[in-house]
Amino acid sequence: MHELELGRVKALFLGTIPDVSTQECADCLRSSLEESTTCVQCRSADVYRVPAEEIILRKALATDVEILAPEEALAKEFGGIAATLRYCTT
Ligand SMILES: [Zn+2]
Repeated sequence: MHELELGRVKALFLGTIPDVSTQECADCLRSSLEESTTCVQCRSADVYRVPAEEIILRKALATDVEILAPEEALAKEFGGIAATLRYCTT
């Protein structure tokens, strides 16, 4: 997710991601892969669980990323998510 936030992801292969807990803050909308009773950014207690795929898809849509949805059997082979990255030479 860090590479996605940095704009380094060129193409994203997104299937179902098993066993990953993600949460989002209702107050500041910060998403996090860490499970906590409070937001890691604003300390609000108004946090709720969101499927990892949803958070990653929203971040990808907000950037210039090609999003590909492989068949489920293929997605399982790479754990539900894979990406090709951009490399900067400067
Ligand atoms: Zn927050």
